[in-house]
Amino acid sequence: MVSLETDLDRIAALAEQRRDDNRAFAHFIDIMWEREGRSDAELDALVEQIAADVSRAIDCTRCANCCRTLTVGLEPDDVARLAAGTGASAPEVLARYVDRAAGAALGEWATLRGVPCPFLRDNLCSVYAHRPLACLHYPAFTPDFRWLLDYILEDAGRCPIVFNVIERLKARLGW
Ligand code: SF4
Ligand code: SF4
Repeated sequence: MVSLETDLDRIAALAEQRRDDNRAFAHFIDIMWEREGRSDAELDALVEQIAADVSRAIDCTRCANCCRTLTVGLEPDDVARLAAGTGASAPEVLARYVDRAAGAALGEWATLRGVPCPFLRDNLCSVYAHRPLACLHYPAFTPDFRWLLDYILEDAGRCPIVFNVIERLKARLGW
């Protein structure tokens, strides 16, 4: 069993060192899956099992690195969610927290204004039950892990869950 790495500085350094190795690993998975005719569903199930184990072992409240460093993409439904979470009206949420122009530049409906996130308080999410859908699903590995992998690897140096899932998957697949 590969041990868990949770130190953020070390994860950032290791992910940088392993950038080329991670790209090669993604290519290796592609070749293995095509050659052996394996299904994407099989790979998704394996990754989900590893991700569940890793997520259980990592305390996000001691990390919050995603909340401190990521720009959060928003969907229209997030306005009502954030209104419920903050007690503000939908127009107030739109005016204070939603940046349509920044979202358009990234191909999103909108983004949340501010990095670190304005809802982060003492390493905790102050709107947790009503957090944006992107936060609710972060980090997402499936469906279609194989096709998302290049994108997922961009966060290997940021998110301990992502870093450790990739390292455990390497071990499971004999990399
Ligand atoms: S999702 Fe990843 S980056 Fe965000 S708090 Fe949890 S471990 Fe940290
Ligand atoms: S809304 Fe909450 S979970 Fe999402 S980035 Fe902000 S603090 Fe983190």
